Amino acid sequence: MTRRLGSETLVIATHNAGKLKEISALLAPYGLNCISAGSLGLPEPAETGKTFIENALIKARSAAQSSGLPALADDSGLCVDALDGRPGVYTADWAERQWFEGKPGRDWYMAMGKVEGLLCELGDDVSRAGHFACVLAIAWPDGDSADYEGKVPGTLTWPPRGTSGFGYDPVFVPKGYDQTFAEIDPAEKHRVSHRAAAFAKLVAEQFGG
Ligand code: IMP
Repeated sequence: MTRRLGSETLVIATHNAGKLKEISALLAPYGLNCISAGSLGLPEPAETGKTFIENALIKARSAAQSSGLPALADDSGLCVDALDGRPGVYTADWAERQWFEGKPGRDWYMAMGKVEGLLCELGDDVSRAGHFACVLAIAWPDGDSADYEGKVPGTLTWPPRGTSGFGYDPVFVPKGYDQTFAEIDPAEKHRVSHRAAAFAKLVAEQFGG
């Protein structure tokens, strides 16, 4: 049986203030005291995994071992069927200007254009199907762990549309919608997203009856 969190302090293994806020808000009803790995001065491990689960576990285990507290981490990205699942765990890396232009910072338009360029190279009939995936991993200091994966299927469109959201939202049309994630009301996106699906699984197992 999967181990459950009690009413205790949980380290959110992120140095990203936005993720900490979003995850803390989602966990607020369950009586946990959430603190960030950043505020504890914990190191940021290299994300050397080949899958979202491996990377989420690397981050959660590193934070649990260095803090002595249970820790929660997430890893997410875009997988395109015709590109054999790429960019996958390299989703954020495809936006690194350092790689392409030798400059610091991320350029999401460039990253979306790279996906589109590769799809165009495969011809007009290529499948534009793909999905966003999110894995949430919990690790305990003694090495125990649990992980939860959520996915949202959809299709890639071009040119990008919409101004809300972040990352690849302007080119992703979730299944059952005509609008991109960047055109859909943010509250609706949060309800149907890969992150919401992973959280629903975590909440059902960790806090369910
Ligand atoms: P990480 O989970 O922080 O490693 O980031 C993965 C990358 O996937 C992000 O930088 C985004 O580019 C992309 N990504 C993950 N979730 C979404 C989403 O909901 N919309 C758009 N892009 C996303």
